[in-house]
Amino acid sequence: MAAYEYETHEYDVVVVGAGGAGLRATLGMAEQGLRTACVTKVFPTRSHTVAAQGGIAASLSNMGPDHWQWHMYDTVKGSDWLGDTDAMEYLAREAPKAVYELEHYGVPFSRTEEGKIYQRPFGGHTTEFGEGPPVQRTCAAADRTGHAILHTLYGQSLKNNAEFYIEYFAIDLIMSDDGVCQGVVCWKLDDGTMHVFRSKMVVLATGGYGRAYFSATSAHTCTGDGGGMVARAGLPLQDMEFVQFHPTGIYGSGCLITEGARGEGGYLTNSEGERFMERYAPNYKDLAPRDYVSRSMTMEIREGRGVGEHGDHIHLNLQHLPPETLAERLPGISESAKIFAGVDVTKEPIPVLPTVHYNMGGIPTNYWGEVLNPTKDDPTAVVPGLMAVGEAGCASVHGANRLGSNSLIDLVVFGRAAAIRAGKVVDPASAVPSANQASVDKAFDRFDTVRNADGATPTAELRLDMQRAMQADAAVFRTAKTMKEGVEKMTEIAGKMSDIKVTDRSLVWNSDLMETLELTNLMPNALATIHGAEARHESRGAHAHEDYPERNDDKWRIHTIARVDGPKVDLSYRPVITETLTTEEEGGISLKKIAPKARTF
Ligand SMILES: Cc1cc2nc3c(=O)[nH]c(=O)nc-3n(C[C@H](O)[C@H](O)[C@H](O)COP(=O)(O)OP(=O)(O)OC[C@H]3O[C@@H](n4cnc5c(N)ncnc54)[C@H](O)[C@@H]3O)c2cc1C
Repeated sequence: MAAYEYETHEYDVVVVGAGGAGLRATLGMAEQGLRTACVTKVFPTRSHTVAAQGGIAASLSNMGPDHWQWHMYDTVKGSDWLGDTDAMEYLAREAPKAVYELEHYGVPFSRTEEGKIYQRPFGGHTTEFGEGPPVQRTCAAADRTGHAILHTLYGQSLKNNAEFYIEYFAIDLIMSDDGVCQGVVCWKLDDGTMHVFRSKMVVLATGGYGRAYFSATSAHTCTGDGGGMVARAGLPLQDMEFVQFHPTGIYGSGCLITEGARGEGGYLTNSEGERFMERYAPNYKDLAPRDYVSRSMTMEIREGRGVGEHGDHIHLNLQHLPPETLAERLPGISESAKIFAGVDVTKEPIPVLPTVHYNMGGIPTNYWGEVLNPTKDDPTAVVPGLMAVGEAGCASVHGANRLGSNSLIDLVVFGRAAAIRAGKVVDPASAVPSANQASVDKAFDRFDTVRNADGATPTAELRLDMQRAMQADAAVFRTAKTMKEGVEKMTEIAGKMSDIKVTDRSLVWNSDLMETLELTNLMPNALATIHGAEARHESRGAHAHEDYPERNDDKWRIHTIARVDGPKVDLSYRPVITETLTTEEEGGISLKKIAPKARTF
């Protein structure tokens, strides 16, 4: 057994992650007087949420009529009927409250002439239950909305005496023999000390796993650490085959150009200068949802109408927009286009390509953020002491495809919901339960094995193999053949984890070791993704299967549950929740309104 000395900390709640979801949960817990620690591997305001540009969806009706029922309908349809109905209702209904709270906490939103929060159009957000014109529902702070939210929530959390453990890397969960989460084991990156956090509740808010792919808009720190910890604790991941490709990553770098650019009037063209989205989505054109636009772009490229020397990308045009609009509403992306594509957006189109952007799947939860461990008899069985929120979790409100600006609202609505729930289930007067020593020892043993790994395959090499395999075989277009190959390749690649080589054995600022631990987390996420995709014989949302081009609600309107053990993946399924929280008489939406139908735009 590896002998590491460690310091022990006791809290009511430990939140792992300080992005929008982690900070909103932390703030909500601390506000209620729960002793709350927030552990984060990067400085809070450097979390990936800081890069969110376009905005946050809520039916405030500041720019015209809107209703939460319309927002809910769009989310249900956007999810291609895979989202859980209760959670989607909760999201749309609580969204305005959550945004006004952000405003009162101090988020500097852009304003209308009358001083209201400015809202812009975003893909898939409509009026009249999808029958009316696009709606302006996305609240924005210029094109730096995530930045504004993150800084505000961090300040407010400090004000409410939440305690931050910055540049602490969470290694593994501490689990009791009967499946209760009791805390988390961490490594402090800057001095090499080890820490055991014991708590009554752990909240995983560790973000997505975009870095399982070769080209992604997400930060290099988005390595699915929460999913990795959960998989090692014998708990499942849900709907991992649904990976969102954003239509407009800058060709080459993958750096994001927000959908807000199309919201403000930008449009896509092919090599013939044609606005091709008019053909694919006659009503909503360039503002159709992301899966739709990404697939249309890929189709244009495959049919020989891509732009550039290799005909392998598409143009995004903003040059017709008034320079004042670009300067005022889209200053950040004008700068990104200059730096990463050498393009002056007032004069030339930006070269773009669909790029991995968001993970719809994640750790399964109910709409209070409580982690689920579904069994045959109880598909919504809760794991005591464990919650997951934000991109790491899967509530599931995005189903098979997330609408733009619905993630930031997911972070704050469910970060807040987790805090409300913790206020009910965590008793501040009770003693913090002692931690299962065998589980603590197991975490240190694994850490020590990785630290001393002395195989023949460097981490960077194996990571690249994984990223290339995922990019090739689990991308926008999927066939039975490519996904079968993907499963074979990924099984072989995951098998090589036992041959990994770490060269630096130190404990202080050891990026080699940290990246290897991150790879041990990316791997189960990637495996669950490719296995879930191969098994799903239909096309739904972001999962477009060329051999099964139709959605099949009779057989496949179910959540994939993946349990990953080493390179092995065991798949089972749980029903989608189709009941609303409130009836039409109580002011809710009628089930008839949201019954599955063909998804056209
Ligand atoms: C470029 C870009 C633009 C986007 N724009 C929008 C937008 O306009 N609107 C919208 O709705 N959505 C947008 N999204 C999506 C949205 O921003 C993300 O889904 C969301 O920010 C994720 O937030 P999070 O709190 O779940 O995680 P993150 O913000 O990724 O934070 C993760 C946190 O977990 C911590 N962490 C992770 N692993 C560990 C570990 N092992 N130990 C300790 N700490 C750990 C990190 O330090 C970090 O603090 C965008 C995404 C990208 C990439």
